[in-house]
Amino acid sequence: MNYDVEKQNIINKIKEVTTLQQLNEVRLYYVGKNGLISNLRSNIKNIPNEEKKEYGIKVNELSNCFEENYNIKKEELETLEVDKQLQKDKIDLTMPSYSFSSGSSHILEKVIEELEEFYISMGYDVVEGPEVEKDLYNFEMLNLPKGHPARDAQDTFYIKGDEWLLRSQTSPVQVRTMLENKDKTPIRIICPGKTYRRDYDDATHSHQFMQMEGLVVSKDISLSDLKGTMNLTAKKLFGEKVETRFRPSYYPFTEPSVEFDVSCFKCDGKGCNVCKNTGWITIGGAGVVHPNVLDMSGYDHNKYQGFAFGFGIERITMVKYGINDIRTFYTNDLRVTNAFNQREGE
Ligand SMILES: [Zn+2]
Repeated sequence: MNYDVEKQNIINKIKEVTTLQQLNEVRLYYVGKNGLISNLRSNIKNIPNEEKKEYGIKVNELSNCFEENYNIKKEELETLEVDKQLQKDKIDLTMPSYSFSSGSSHILEKVIEELEEFYISMGYDVVEGPEVEKDLYNFEMLNLPKGHPARDAQDTFYIKGDEWLLRSQTSPVQVRTMLENKDKTPIRIICPGKTYRRDYDDATHSHQFMQMEGLVVSKDISLSDLKGTMNLTAKKLFGEKVETRFRPSYYPFTEPSVEFDVSCFKCDGKGCNVCKNTGWITIGGAGVVHPNVLDMSGYDHNKYQGFAFGFGIERITMVKYGINDIRTFYTNDLRVTNAFNQREGE
């Protein structure tokens, strides 16, 4: 064998190669199981002893020539492959992106979450209760015995007889919480949830709506604590500039009872369509917990006082977002839901 010619063959063969696969074929041809160089190596046993050394050197030279050229080519081809891949994976940052739609919370849920977060930050717990409720908790223990005229104001869905009903307010959760806590204080809770009344649905009435009530029971609680809390709530909902005012009202479960208004956040009290030109918007009702309510739930009114407040979630959301039909919330029109989300994202 002419080793110099064979060396040149190796160099030429490798030179012609353009892919890693071809290179591998050349590799098998030389150093594979039955490769040319492999065979030369195993043939050493047939070489006469005195020629073995010379033979070994020549075969090694051939092998080194192959390794050297092979490695250079391999690196070259691999770099090329990576470049090709990078070219393929190239991202065009100027291309317009695809838009995709994602789910999101309902606007009422957002308002509830916002309020929950706010009250939790003031040390309140969020408590929920059943929507199918006992007359006892929905009315009687809230100082509304059977036959009380104020019951008429809450036209109630009764479920079989007069013991069970769909709760007409979230207040029974207050009763349940007091009964569970025995006479432990302080109680500081908010109760968000659905309520039901036998109303005909129109732009401002719905047979199902959401309330959020709050109850604080402790020692030395007064109307001014309630006023402070409502002030903070109003500012949280409608901005730092708004003011609150209390007007005397009547609820059987509080004494004294008040309605609370916020100064119109839209016209700063000058008068506009949101506040019906009065400069004020009624947000909810509140008061100091009636002694009878405390006593019935196991809290001696001589030792403890409390305040309670409540408002309609739909009412607040309508005022806040300028919605004039309560049915908007319950028709599940995605265009409406998306409109709120866009407004949020602005
Ligand atoms: Zn106004």
